[in-house]
Amino acid sequence: MSRSGSRITAAATLAVLWAVVAAAAPEFDRAAARQAAIARLVELHGADTRPRIELGVTQAADMWRPEDGSTQEFVDFAATHLVVDARTLDDTFAHLERSMEMLDGHFVSMGRELRHFMDVETGPVRPVDRLLAAYDPAAHLLDDLFASRIAFVALLNFPASTLEQRNADGPQWSRRRWAEARLVGRFAQRVPAAAQQAVSAATAAADAYISDYNLYLHHWLLPDGRRPFTAGLRLISHWGLRDELKAHYGSAEGLEKQRLIARVMEDIVRQEIPSSVVNNPLLDWTPETGKVTVAAVQDVEAPAGAEAQPKPAREPDTRYRKLLDIFHAMQQVDPSVPQAPTAIARSFDMEREIPVERVRSMFEALFASPVAAQVASLIENRLGRPLEPFDIWYAGFKPRAEYGEAELDAMTKKRYPTPAAFAADIPRILRDLGFAPDTATMLAAHIVVDPSRGAGHALGAGRRDDVSHLRTRVGADGMDYKGYNIAVHELGHNVEQVFSLNTIDHTSLQGVPGNAFTEALAFVFQQRDLELLGLAKQGGESEHLRALEAFWASCEIGAVALVDVAVWDWMYAHPGARADELRAATVRIAGEVWDRTFAPLMHGKKSVLLGIYSHMLAYPLYLAHYPLGHLIAFQLEEHFAGANMAREFERVCQQGRLVPDLWMQGAVGSKIGPEPLLQATARALQALGPQETGGGR
Ligand SMILES: [Zn+2]
Repeated sequence: MSRSGSRITAAATLAVLWAVVAAAAPEFDRAAARQAAIARLVELHGADTRPRIELGVTQAADMWRPEDGSTQEFVDFAATHLVVDARTLDDTFAHLERSMEMLDGHFVSMGRELRHFMDVETGPVRPVDRLLAAYDPAAHLLDDLFASRIAFVALLNFPASTLEQRNADGPQWSRRRWAEARLVGRFAQRVPAAAQQAVSAATAAADAYISDYNLYLHHWLLPDGRRPFTAGLRLISHWGLRDELKAHYGSAEGLEKQRLIARVMEDIVRQEIPSSVVNNPLLDWTPETGKVTVAAVQDVEAPAGAEAQPKPAREPDTRYRKLLDIFHAMQQVDPSVPQAPTAIARSFDMEREIPVERVRSMFEALFASPVAAQVASLIENRLGRPLEPFDIWYAGFKPRAEYGEAELDAMTKKRYPTPAAFAADIPRILRDLGFAPDTATMLAAHIVVDPSRGAGHALGAGRRDDVSHLRTRVGADGMDYKGYNIAVHELGHNVEQVFSLNTIDHTSLQGVPGNAFTEALAFVFQQRDLELLGLAKQGGESEHLRALEAFWASCEIGAVALVDVAVWDWMYAHPGARADELRAATVRIAGEVWDRTFAPLMHGKKSVLLGIYSHMLAYPLYLAHYPLGHLIAFQLEEHFAGANMAREFERVCQQGRLVPDLWMQGAVGSKIGPEPLLQATARALQALGPQETGGGR
């Protein structure tokens, strides 16, 4: 670059210099940087390393941003940090792995200590405790790892992978290769703060809309003017409405109420509900005719903003506008996650690591099985009437307790007067579960018991020099049976946490593939709580009822999850859609999924009830977790029932965080699937089916 600077003034020189600096600052050309870095590295290390160089440089260049440095700085960085020598590469990996364990593990400790006064029974909660608990010291960790260029060293040197590769090639990978995949996997996304902020804002707005969507049921009238619901009943959609509907099984007048609730739910999905009756006890509403009048009775104080103005105008698609806002925010994230450029891919390929097609086909398999129709007719027999669409929430598969609650309370209170008494008994509990004495001692040494404010929880460590915490609630007169039952469940979590961190080969692989797995493992412990008190095992009937309940719940929420995913597919296919178009599409999709799933079990009746779940707004694409959890639980339980529980528990936990299908393959010999749940349901039908007919619950 040549410039005739002799005749220009000092001020002009400064202006020119400034322009040069300003132009240089954002001067990062991704394609040029990639090309130049590859050329320089091949020159340095030789042509036979080209494939590795191309992969590492591309991975790093994809995530590099202008603020990380210029094209030249990128090339220099790559030349310094791409490692070819095998010994140096091993050390680089080991140093990164240990450093990440320490970083993450100390953040886990810090988070636990910041929540200490909220979580542990330590006297009155003070206002500052909420601020301490809400503070997340790790909030900027990922940004900092990129800004410090540590992330780029990982991206330059270790291969990232797609879910498809992890599933297809994973069985042949070494443990080290898996650990590398997890180490580099955390840097597969670098979402700009503004996009992250947009998602938080849109989901918070949807959550606020859902959290304040209350209905006053005493003000719902039947066409003959009767008020079927009691005074003061205020319920949130959909959770409160659904639970009220479930509570009316078994009562003579229940059916009328259930039909009315289901009708209102459908009105919400179709947005035919008058917006003036939401959150408003000053108006009466007859859902069947749509008539809205000033309330003839007053039963509760009206919330701020409620007006005694009867307006029959329908809700103006607010529900769907909120969902569209979330979709538009997610679209801002899409470009910064090249491996999962849609919200659906991020939810299934990155978070769950189970491809959406597999999830869809597993849920559809529940309905394709002959047991679906058999369970439906068992429910009809128990109800003594043909099924109606809201019977997707049938709540009658409840086992009766085999021991009296008071009898059990007395036992556990005597045995565990304090949390310390429970802690002292952990080695014995573990030995009784079948763990070898030295294993039981090792586990107990890594588990600390604290008195809990809430029902109880288990907090795992993130580094090997920390401990796992079991929080349990113990009353002044000792631990009641419910508390004990929860404590045994939490102990299952703690044992999983210790095995999958302290006794595993690579801390990058610590943990299990997801929540459903750790819950299923905790349940294996919880199920044995009576035996651990020296009482007899639960009888077969309660196991059968649990299978029937899990099957029907999986069908219900599996169908809801199919609607959730299909609505997101539709939004991506129609990115410019308006709220009214999204409403029409959702109503159509809910109807179509219904026709494919429940309609054949319910004499062809039509319904859009599957569109009512609030999760669709407040927790986008979350719903599939629930039915997957049931499937995974039955697979693991079936495996543990026929095995040396303690030995198998340790072995499956030590697999670490593989992808779910491979983890399950290693644990039970097959991928995640519905078969064990279907088989347990078939056994339950065989045991309970004929005797139950005509039960008329
Ligand atoms: Zn749990």
